[in-house]
Amino acid sequence: MKNVWIITACILLAGCCREDHPFPAGIQHVVVIGIDGMSSQGFIEAKTPCMDSLMRNGAYSYTVRCVLPTVSKPNWNAMLCGAGPDITGVTSNGWYRDLQVFPPVVMTGNHSFPTIFDIVREQKPAAELGSLYQWGDFGSMLDEDVMNLSETYPTALETAEKTAAYILEKRPDFVFIQLDEVDGYGHSDGHMSSGYLKGIEEADMQVRIIVDAVRDAGIAESTLIMIVSDHGGIFHKHGDNTYEELTTPIIFSGKGIKKDYAIRQQIYRYDVAADVAFALGLQAPQQWIGRPTLPAYEGFDEPTNLWQGVELLPPPVFHTETYNPPHGGVSVDRPAEVKIKKPAGVDGVIRYTVDESVPTRESALYEGAFTVEKSTVIRAKLFGEKGESPVVTAEYKVENSKTK
Ligand SMILES: [Zn+2]
Repeated sequence: MKNVWIITACILLAGCCREDHPFPAGIQHVVVIGIDGMSSQGFIEAKTPCMDSLMRNGAYSYTVRCVLPTVSKPNWNAMLCGAGPDITGVTSNGWYRDLQVFPPVVMTGNHSFPTIFDIVREQKPAAELGSLYQWGDFGSMLDEDVMNLSETYPTALETAEKTAAYILEKRPDFVFIQLDEVDGYGHSDGHMSSGYLKGIEEADMQVRIIVDAVRDAGIAESTLIMIVSDHGGIFHKHGDNTYEELTTPIIFSGKGIKKDYAIRQQIYRYDVAADVAFALGLQAPQQWIGRPTLPAYEGFDEPTNLWQGVELLPPPVFHTETYNPPHGGVSVDRPAEVKIKKPAGVDGVIRYTVDESVPTRESALYEGAFTVEKSTVIRAKLFGEKGESPVVTAEYKVENSKTK
């Protein structure tokens, strides 16, 4: 009987080891470039030659899902921590390590849930680790004791240029960059406005500065570059739970990554830390819930258990420049112009209602801009052959100054 158990144990162990994922070979450096507030639709519509070439030389997804709320610190932190706010305690932009009432499930000596920087430092003590960020508060999530460099700069351009200099000088094992200006354009000009798209195009030029530095440092053949974002946005804000706020792109490019490959596996915000650990051949702690995006890597397949449901399409886009703004508000003594666009790269038709009901396949077909004479709630939805989008709602306000 005892022998049977030993034989069974051996078979189980052998099976287990065979199923264990080996790490990808040859990735010695990981560069994660984070673009604050870049939504998937914004990225698809903006002209971004550098990020497009990273995609052609890489794997990508347009459907990475945020953690809630859709604000910066919880989402950047999830990327750093391999876990969401419910686990790390980082539930808002107001989190600071010594001020927390919501404890993380485990913590470092410096009172925070372990980040990817803690994991790299623990398993590769001599690693060069840096983070360069435009949003100063990004630094509050980093444990200074494990960082070689943690520095904030006033503009995205300067952040990119300092990153380039750092890569050329130190050839870091891992560097995480945060560029903040796209988010600012979303707040001031409106998400999907021409100003917002221009902001993404500027970010693309900053990405190029960093990508060129990787090449000039002679480490392109051993570097994984990732492009990530913390949240999208709708109209002039983010923080709620619409598709537009929740959905961002991701790109993996470089050593060991498939070429021009659209990833089907669902990716979550907290998977980023798991990917960095996996790429560098490190063991992620059990308390993380992020999983590496295996199908992005050469030699790894998509999971066989992907749920095949009704296709979720991205919603129509209300033209922010005509949506009673520029900065919110009302149209006075003139009708409001309603302009709706189909999301780029998707087939389907827009249907809408003006009576607050949910659009169906029988609702009015949107065929071009129209005006509303009085305050009106417009709901719109994209219908494709198989799938459909969530509802998007815009409230147009019209006032007559004489009756006020
Ligand atoms: Zn913001």
